[in-house]
Amino acid sequence: MEKLLLATTLLCTLHLLSLVQAHPVDETLLRKLGFIDLTQYGRTIFGEPDNSTGEILAKYNPEVDAGNPEELGSYLEGDILMPLGQARNGLSATSARWAGGVVPYEIRGSFDAFQMNLIEKALNEYHTRTCIRFVPRSNQQDYISIVNGNTGCWSSVGRIGGRQEVNFQTPGCMVKVGTVVHELMHALGFLHEQNRSERDGYVYVNWNNIKAGTENNFEKASSQTTDAFGVGYDYGSVMHYSANAFSKNGQPTLVAKYSGPRMGQRDGFSGGDIAKINQMYSCQRTYNGYTYGGYSAHYPYGRYTYSYGSYPSAYNNIYYGRR
Ligand SMILES: [Zn+2]
Repeated sequence: MEKLLLATTLLCTLHLLSLVQAHPVDETLLRKLGFIDLTQYGRTIFGEPDNSTGEILAKYNPEVDAGNPEELGSYLEGDILMPLGQARNGLSATSARWAGGVVPYEIRGSFDAFQMNLIEKALNEYHTRTCIRFVPRSNQQDYISIVNGNTGCWSSVGRIGGRQEVNFQTPGCMVKVGTVVHELMHALGFLHEQNRSERDGYVYVNWNNIKAGTENNFEKASSQTTDAFGVGYDYGSVMHYSANAFSKNGQPTLVAKYSGPRMGQRDGFSGGDIAKINQMYSCQRTYNGYTYGGYSAHYPYGRYTYSYGSYPSAYNNIYYGRR
């Protein structure tokens, strides 16, 4: 019965996807079905893990080098990579959310104790702040495999079906918990914050400082196909590039138009990140007696205000303190 239901759902969704070509798409409906439309990227989103990125990352020194390790890759926007096999199968760049927010995972890379601890911390962040549940994979068909190939830090966007790798080259990608949180947010279906369709209202992109050939990493997402879930532009998002991302000369490529949190932090979720995840996955949960799912957040240059619900001080500290 369950299989029949699954098959029917699949047929219906395939039918819906076939309508994408011929008719105007009801984006809201597709989103409701849990689809993530990445067609705006065309084939640039597909590729294969790349050792030259690994070589660059091997030289990365977090103590001295500006920026984040996931900003060093040759992949789309530095760290987004959908396996080429999917493109060969003729699928357009579409992915899906994880049903019920449950993400089966395995750890296949060889990580040392510090790195394992970093992964655990990142998973705990999800488990305490959102309704996402990473569960050790038993026999689920769709799952993420956390690996440490010498190919940089990268992930696909959303659930692509079958085994999908999330790569953390060691030790470069395993310095800050936020890098792990960041890649896992891609795997959940999120894109980079600074490429939101309305970003020009919040940051100047200094094209003169961008390394030749990496300009397309700063292309804006289409407002037709992406959804910010009612959460305003967020400098402090763990999905925001650092100010010097893809700089050719050490000068900023991104300049904030308003004062706000530092761009490119990788210490953990911002309040906006949590709000977005909980919106995308329709979380409605209680944390220390406080309901924090199902709300919308607004970000008027400097502080978050939430439309309802109040938060224990520990929650606010995630965002305001201990940085
Ligand atoms: Zn990224």
